[in-house]
Amino acid sequence: PVHRTTEVQDARLRLPILAEEQQVMETINENPIVIVAGETGSGKTTQLPQFLYEAGYAQHKMIGVTEPRRVAAIAMSKRVAHEMNLPESEVSYLIRFEGNVTPATRIKFMTDGVLLKEIETDFLLSKYSVIILDEAHERSVYTDILVGLLSRIVPLRHKRGQPLKLIIMSATLRVSDFTENTRLFKIPPPLLKVEARQFPVTIHFQKRTPDDYVAEAYRKTLKIHNKLPEGGILIFVTGQQEVNQLVRKLRRTFPYQPPTKDVAKNGKESEDKKEETKEDADSTVEDPKELEFDMKRVIRNIRKSKKKFLAQIALPKINLDDYKLPGDDTEADMHEQPDEDEDQEGLEEENDDELGLEGESGMESGKRQPLWVLPLYSLLSSEKQNRIFQPVPDGCRLCVVSTNVAETSLTIPHIKYVVDCGRQKTRLYDKLTGVSAFVVTYTSKASADQRAGRAGRISAGHCYRLYSSAVYNDCFEDFSQPDIQKKPVEDLMLQMRCMGIDRVVHFPFPSPPDQVQLQAAERRLIVLGALEAANTEKTDLPPAVTRLGQVISRFPVAPRFGKMLALSHQQDLLPYTVCLVAALSVQEVLIETGVQRDEDVAPGANKFHRKRQSWAASGNYQLLGDPMVLLRAVGAAEYAGSQGRLSEFCATNGLRQKAMSEVRKLRVQLTNEINLNVSDVELGVDPELKPPTDAQARFLRQILLAGMGDRVARKVPLADIADKEERRRLKYAYHCADMEEPAFLHVSSVLRQKTPEWVIYQEAYELQNGDSTKMFIRGITAIE
Ligand code: ADP
Ligand code: MG
Repeated sequence: PVHRTTEVQDARLRLPILAEEQQVMETINENPIVIVAGETGSGKTTQLPQFLYEAGYAQHKMIGVTEPRRVAAIAMSKRVAHEMNLPESEVSYLIRFEGNVTPATRIKFMTDGVLLKEIETDFLLSKYSVIILDEAHERSVYTDILVGLLSRIVPLRHKRGQPLKLIIMSATLRVSDFTENTRLFKIPPPLLKVEARQFPVTIHFQKRTPDDYVAEAYRKTLKIHNKLPEGGILIFVTGQQEVNQLVRKLRRTFPYQPPTKDVAKNGKESEDKKEETKEDADSTVEDPKELEFDMKRVIRNIRKSKKKFLAQIALPKINLDDYKLPGDDTEADMHEQPDEDEDQEGLEEENDDELGLEGESGMESGKRQPLWVLPLYSLLSSEKQNRIFQPVPDGCRLCVVSTNVAETSLTIPHIKYVVDCGRQKTRLYDKLTGVSAFVVTYTSKASADQRAGRAGRISAGHCYRLYSSAVYNDCFEDFSQPDIQKKPVEDLMLQMRCMGIDRVVHFPFPSPPDQVQLQAAERRLIVLGALEAANTEKTDLPPAVTRLGQVISRFPVAPRFGKMLALSHQQDLLPYTVCLVAALSVQEVLIETGVQRDEDVAPGANKFHRKRQSWAASGNYQLLGDPMVLLRAVGAAEYAGSQGRLSEFCATNGLRQKAMSEVRKLRVQLTNEINLNVSDVELGVDPELKPPTDAQARFLRQILLAGMGDRVARKVPLADIADKEERRRLKYAYHCADMEEPAFLHVSSVLRQKTPEWVIYQEAYELQNGDSTKMFIRGITAIE
């Protein structure tokens, strides 16, 4: 039995799904596969696992819940543990870099990628009695694959007399891809709709659609706060930088003064508040012991599993002087570009009916009520994310500035006003080259309606759309396209092939990816050496996975990085490659040096930039160029961490601390994996990674080239260009393979002054600059 506090119980009783517990459970008991669709906030994620637990589904096996977002996996496991009054050792989470799962875990929240990896080693998911695929409407690649796999696993488990339940949960969007796809489910699964009390939300469009939606959001929020009655404000912008920018601006305009000590009787409370008013410096506490602890566990694990591990793979001996041109994509996400600096406008008056609220009595304007402004985005630490659920200080109005995390994954309480910029940041890929660009695009109509819906949870609400109805009608798609149809699929292709799915082309995807994309992925995997070159005798068979391919797929990184690791089995290179790959796989390790366009900013203008130059400049360091900056940064940060000075070190060197701890975790994880899978090495994670010798640096460069050989660029020859202007314009221009337009060496590159003739780059991306776009390359290594 579960013992909940009365407070929790009261909150639960207000959730729409609670009224339907019996019907939900009956349907689940009677059907192997059920789809549950319901408004965001109706209680699906927090309550369904509890229903299942109380119905006995966790008695012998686990209840598994997948989330596409790490944020949600952590937040929801904590919430459910709290509601059920169970320790985190029983209601736990597991995400790519961390988790608190124990042998006692009964309910396990995890990212969809984690469950996919588990299927590789336990195809029937024998540890689980139920799998809930949450947020299926998000259509993340992994969730889509899981739906396809589970559509086959469920009948198999049934045949073996150990039935597995599958619950697909979604917001009220386009469930037809799951219910009406007969290749996926021959018998359409029953659809349960959770009716939520949704109060009416009045939608206000703007007459015009301003480009500077951040400034517009600020202006609108001022108006709402000054003129409209009680009720939280939720603002949607597109990215972390925009969130922070807007949060700063709003906090400055409506400062919150914590009560002084003699006013606040409770000393602890005032402590918290003091902390609160600090700017958003990341306050994650780093424990230097953590690494040591991790290493002990790693070594223990290795000892244990070495005994068990039957099919150990010896790394193929590949001649570094004779490799083919590889290809595929990188997992390292592009840095978010810094925003324009804040402008000062925003306070000018406009007529009142802009808010569309005739008849509603407003607040007295002029009386400055403090605004309790909180940021929300995925990379925010989980303690900070959790603040959206904590009580707002007396006399304040809640205002959350969020990316689309708040659209469906996290329900923020007490929201009455939504300000929607109508855009989102999407990563677009070129299907053939794998080149990606982060672009801000309009959301879909479905997303816009979800966002508006956030205002109608407690009472009638208002949604202010910072765009015109004409734009909504003409430029917004009905639904956004599933990720699987947008992304390059090499790693999935390889992963699926290693799982024994030979004909990926025939896989029952909810929405199949483009054939062109699948064929391109196969080609690149062949070039990379992960798949056999086509077998001419048995052309009906898909190319087999090579030994190299198997090794690559064991590394939890993009295949090109996997290959780099696989090639490092000589000259004691592995510790360096591990470090490099870990750093390249994590987003935003280096804080942008504040220059995003191509203007010639004096390289010394920025202190971080200068420091980075010096890191890459001396001795053999220049052999590696920009990646050496990462390598040295990680090495030095690790060392500083072992001395308990990580925060300070990150702050003075322009490194993102959260990213550094992810790099460290990934290093440990990769090291563990290598020790497991490779028979004759036992690596450690050395906090004092010595600089590579000249010979090692040369090998490292070759390894980089082996992984990135499709990302070679050649400097545009300037000598033939007569026009002086044109020569100036093309000073940093490079021709890249597969691209017509030249790309420009990013200002952050330490090789900008040298502009070597041939280079390899870690990523190419496009930036919008008004109407035109411009290609950039970064992460540069020179080839000699
Ligand atoms: P759904 O999955 O249907 O969108 P959830 O189960 O996520 O709904 O949320 C149900 C309710 O639980 C929401 O009102 C939400 O605000 C609340 N909730 C979720 N997490 C927390 C938390 N950490 N603290 C307080 N309330 C929470
Ligand atoms: Mg949910």
